[in-house]
Amino acid sequence: MTECSSDTTQNQDVVRAKGWESALPRAAYRNLERVTTGIPWFEVYRTPGNVFAIYEDGQFEETLSYLVPGEERAVLIDTGDGIGNIRTLAEELTSLPVSVVNTHHHIDHVAQNYLFDDVALFDDPLGLARKAAAEGFSHEEALDLIAPGNVWKPYPEGFDPATYHMPPFSVTRWLKDGDTIDLGNRVLEVIWTPGHSPDSVSLLDRTARLLWVGDLFYTGSIYTFLPGGDFDQFLASYRKLIDLFPLYDKIMPSHNEPWLDKEILKDVLAAAEGIRKGQTPFTVGKGGMRKYDFGRFALILGPDQ
Ligand SMILES: [Zn+2]
Repeated sequence: MTECSSDTTQNQDVVRAKGWESALPRAAYRNLERVTTGIPWFEVYRTPGNVFAIYEDGQFEETLSYLVPGEERAVLIDTGDGIGNIRTLAEELTSLPVSVVNTHHHIDHVAQNYLFDDVALFDDPLGLARKAAAEGFSHEEALDLIAPGNVWKPYPEGFDPATYHMPPFSVTRWLKDGDTIDLGNRVLEVIWTPGHSPDSVSLLDRTARLLWVGDLFYTGSIYTFLPGGDFDQFLASYRKLIDLFPLYDKIMPSHNEPWLDKEILKDVLAAAEGIRKGQTPFTVGKGGMRKYDFGRFALILGPDQ
């Protein structure tokens, strides 16, 4: 699986400014097996290692959720933007019982947690994950996701933009660093990797040699300035994941492109260390945000980071 650089070197801001959807389809998908389903809102791909990548290419976040089957149950890693019904989709893809594990609590990862009986989320020290579960996200908070220009596909049947919001949800398992999730002859290990958010986790499958990284990395503009974001923790999380290189080969980000070579994590760490040394040029945007652009990815820091 190789990524052609022609249409993956653009970061999301650039793509969005010129009509983000014009960069689609991204080259990373060309060599993955496409799976046809009854819900065209989602593009589904099966990757090596028996994983379904569930791609919301119709909305500018290009959110990726993943269905990971074991022998006894399947885990859905994140529940997406809440526009298409991801539970119906998951039930079409597997006959196993499906439980949810979230990479973190942000709105575009937990939107349909409320549709599932079994949800696991990391219990962060700031309590942000508990707040998201207790309150959900309001229509006002959700509106930017469907603002004009942010969606190009037709809405799926049953979606009502006028009432779009993320209902509160129950968490049946609060995760801690080092926990394991047993799917029946397939185990995911929880690795706490804060920086993008305080509850961000990576999930390691040693047998398939895969690592899900949530929003710690994707090919686009990566944020550390959101509430609870921490650039020093971001650096520490990258060091932690690079130390684990002997255990996995591919990474599975939560936006834009699945199935990337792990080596790019080293590039990001080098870039972040350069920023810390004050060696890297940047542009200043709205609210004093500093953007450091490295081509295939960019890092966005807040004014006090
Ligand atoms: Zn996020």
